Amino acid sequence: STTAPTVIGNGHMASVGDSNETTTYEHGVQVVDEQKEFNPNLSKYLSLENVTPSGFNYHLISVFGSQSTGKSTLLNHLFGTQFSVMSELERRQTTKGIWLSKNKLQNQGTDESTRMADNILVMDVEGTDGRERGEDQDFERKSALFALATSEVLIVNIWEHQVGLYQGANMGLLKTVFEVNLQLFLKDRNTTHRSLLFFVIRDFLGATPLKNLQKTLLEDLSRIWASLSKPPGLENSTIHDYFDFAFYGLPHKGYQPDQFAAEVKKLGTRFREGHKDPKRDVLELNDGGIFLPEYHRRIPADGFAKYAEGIWDQIVNNKDLDLPTQQELLAQFRCDEILREVTVAFDEAIVPFEERQAEGVRSGQPQVLGGLGPAMRAARTKALQKFETEASRYHKGVYQRKRAELIDKTDTRLKGLVQGQLSAAHKSGVNEFSEAVSAAVKSGQKKGGSYDFAEIVSKETQTALARFEETARTLVIEGASWSDYKHALALYQKDLGEVSGRLRRDEMRRLATRVEKWVQSRLAESVGLEFNALGSGRGGSGAPETGEKPTEKDIWDRIWNLFVDTVLDAERRFTDRARSFDASLEEVDVGLWRLRRKSWGVLRTKIDEEMMEGNLLLKLRENFEDKFRYDEAGVPRIWRPTDDIEGVYTRARESTLTLIPLLSRFRLTETNAPPPLDKWIGQTPSSATPADEEDLTPIGGVDEEDGKSLEEETTILSDAKRQDLTVRFKKAADGVYVEAKRSAIGGMTQ
Ligand code: GDP
Ligand code: MG
Repeated sequence: STTAPTVIGNGHMASVGDSNETTTYEHGVQVVDEQKEFNPNLSKYLSLENVTPSGFNYHLISVFGSQSTGKSTLLNHLFGTQFSVMSELERRQTTKGIWLSKNKLQNQGTDESTRMADNILVMDVEGTDGRERGEDQDFERKSALFALATSEVLIVNIWEHQVGLYQGANMGLLKTVFEVNLQLFLKDRNTTHRSLLFFVIRDFLGATPLKNLQKTLLEDLSRIWASLSKPPGLENSTIHDYFDFAFYGLPHKGYQPDQFAAEVKKLGTRFREGHKDPKRDVLELNDGGIFLPEYHRRIPADGFAKYAEGIWDQIVNNKDLDLPTQQELLAQFRCDEILREVTVAFDEAIVPFEERQAEGVRSGQPQVLGGLGPAMRAARTKALQKFETEASRYHKGVYQRKRAELIDKTDTRLKGLVQGQLSAAHKSGVNEFSEAVSAAVKSGQKKGGSYDFAEIVSKETQTALARFEETARTLVIEGASWSDYKHALALYQKDLGEVSGRLRRDEMRRLATRVEKWVQSRLAESVGLEFNALGSGRGGSGAPETGEKPTEKDIWDRIWNLFVDTVLDAERRFTDRARSFDASLEEVDVGLWRLRRKSWGVLRTKIDEEMMEGNLLLKLRENFEDKFRYDEAGVPRIWRPTDDIEGVYTRARESTLTLIPLLSRFRLTETNAPPPLDKWIGQTPSSATPADEEDLTPIGGVDEEDGKSLEEETTILSDAKRQDLTVRFKKAADGVYVEAKRSAIGGMTQ
């Protein structure tokens, strides 16, 4: 049974080729070589053996004992491993350093109750008191420390005939084990970690009952324990505070091969999970599963290699081994690693969205990205779950800190996306809203203007809000309080309100323009009639219902009254309509104020048009002719030479001439003053904005800063124009007179 091992050490690994790595690790992996170097390939080995993903579902066993006592042989039979064993011919030490192999008999045996535990990792530790390395007691101590720090079960391999030999090499080894155990506990008093010392008694004859051997061994162990100098506080401790014990006798492999095989098989079934019966003595662990939960070192499988390396590093450099610190360091290392891993997957899902969003922002056209919500939720959940599953097995404090870090990192990214999305939805929503309202108004105008602006705004607001909420809702991430969109929705609603206000003001302007046009056409007609009436020389058209004959003298009163009435009517129309679309009282006030001012402008323009030189001269002439050519009864005069043509002419001319000063100034008869334009227009409403005043023409006497008085505003003809008009009218009148005179003489001649 000679096996020439392929030694796989650090760096100088015999390369069998990556194509078949399992053959590379045929004999397991050499965790620590004879130069005390740790093998960085341990984690690779654990991955190849598929132990890495098993969490806590794995077990670690170490074997101890003198050299060449059949340790490797035992392990190979128990676990189907191929640790190298000593050739019968050479009798030299074969196992060097510390080897590790996974149990190869894991799934053998059909009986569920005796099936071996999953993922048993076995460490074959170089034998102690070796002839070749006798000088190096140091390694014995270091490997014991390493084994104790990592293993749940320590198999102590011992020949029956060595039992009771207190001075024997085995006892030296056990003393070392106890010492280093105390050393570990100095730093780690709070953890109640126990180990099982499993004595396998070789070449067990059966002559002395196993019970007796147990007793002897335990007495020896207690004696060793008692002889140790214990650190303060642990003076009264016993070995049972730290160790459980189990014993098993195996017959001689050479002399009783069949019994040996049968017993090894039976022994194998003990390597399963078990629970301690508190009522039973630890000594009677002799038939149940030996892997008690309290033995487990609680190092997750994916961190084991790193942890073992850290432990070995401390040991080899003769540093105080501080397991809690090591576990915390491991947790930091692994949590960071897991964090990086889950971030890679997270990035794969999220970066494309981030890029598209950034592109949208760059191009100034932020877009709503379809499918983002589900992608974000999936990526976040996946990252968190994977992290929680893997990292939560490590040091709680570190885990929680790193988990918070992960959430912070992912959520900062997601928050950026969500905010970008909400602002895109906001922007496009407001635009769409504004366009929809404008389009609805336009189509209403096309259909004859009978549309309800308030209704359009309210309907489109609902639509816009619903659409925004729909987008926002898809972006909500459960469990992330920041993903609540209430605030964004409120801002959106506020902006919609502002846009509505702007659109309503536009609508007000349109309404104002319509009403002004209406005022304009009404005044064109009614004021026109008043001026036309001047031509008849017998008064205007006003107030026929009172029966009072309108006179030329009160033309301005009539114009003012019909102006005021017309504007009042217009104001009513404006107010009714504006209120119908929810304009505020202030907005209506401003609108009415503007309407009055603009209406005055309209009237003033109309008057100026009527008073254009040619027009006015024509009207004066008509007025004069009417008075001159017709008698009081309205009958045309036929001039005879005896008629007082000159008298009639003079009266008619003087009568018409009084019109010129009358028409020159807009005066009300009652007060003989300009109309109370300032009072009538009223003060500028306090809610009027500069934009409201921008397009207004200043009115004298109303807008003081203009420097023009009400007098000037209501002066229709300047003095110079008056004089000129008087001269020209007189000339025209003279012409009529001469013509009349001529016709009278002519009539006589005929
Ligand atoms: P290790 O150094 O403790 O790992 O011992 P090995 O497994 O290499 O074996 C050392 C020698 O002991 C080998 O020559 C084996 O054949 C022999 N051996 C193995 N099992 C037994 C056994 O049960 N009884 C005896 N007496 N020798 C054994
Ligand atoms: Mg060996």
